[in-house]
Order: sequence, then structure tokens, then C-alpha cells
Amino acid sequence: MTHKDDCIFCRIAKNEIPSEFLFENDNFFAILDKNQDIPGHALIISKQHYTNLIDMPTTLGTEMASAIKEVSEKILKNGAEGFNVFINNFPAGGQVVMHVHIHVLPRKKDDDLKLIG
Ligand code: AMP
Ligand code: ZN
Repeated sequence: MTHKDDCIFCRIAKNEIPSEFLFENDNFFAILDKNQDIPGHALIISKQHYTNLIDMPTTLGTEMASAIKEVSEKILKNGAEGFNVFINNFPAGGQVVMHVHIHVLPRKKDDDLKLIG
């Protein structure tokens, strides 16, 4: 496994910072985002350190898609009526933690959340 010592998500992957995993497969795990302004906001994180989606091998694509589906299904089972999936890439794309991760955001029909614009 390739990890980066000063990377917060690598430290969670190595269990140096204990976190409850909502889901795990060979190459990804999911945790709740520490910002719970939207309750249930989850992050799917690669176990190895890849900076962003461009850095991540495409061979992990199927497993990433499967992780997204499983976490989204859990979110729906927990009462969400819909969900959004997004990845921030590079600082200009709003990326703050430089280790690839997928946001899964639970949505309700009338939650009035505006993601863009
Ligand atoms: P971004 O890089 O823009 O996708 O944002 C990083 C996301 O990671 C933010 O939504 C943070 O709230 C979240 N985050 C940062 N550190 C942690 C942590 N230790 N545990 C859970 N979520 C985190
Ligand atoms: Zn990392």
C-alpha cells in the first residue's frame, strides 16, 4: 500500500486515526464526513494515496463504482430520497484534502440545497 505520512486520509486508512467504516472493499472505504451540516454526508476514500481522480488508475473504476452504489444504497435505506455524488479535483475545483475521495450527499425532495450556482 502506498501511503503518505502527513495525509489525513492515509492516516485514517492505516487506522492511525480510528474511524468507523460505513463500508469497505479491497481498495476503498467509506466514513462520515466530519462536516455533518447535511446529516449522513459520506466520503468514499481510496486505501492507497492517489492525489486526485487523474492520479488514480482507471483499473479501480469498477470497484469505485461499486463502492458508490453500495454507500448510496445505504443512504437511501437510511431515509434519503435521493443523493448526489461528486469529486472535487485540484484546489481550483474546491479540493482541500489532496487524497482522492468521493462525496455522497443524502438529499430530500424539499431540502432546498443548491450545489451549484
Ligand atoms: P474536499 O477536498 O473539498 O472534497 O473536502 C474535504 C472533505 O473532507 C471536507 O468535506 C471535510 O469536511 C472532510 N474531512 C476532512 N478531514 C476529515 C476527517 N478527519 N474525517 C472526516 N472528514 C474529513
Ligand atoms: Zn493520502
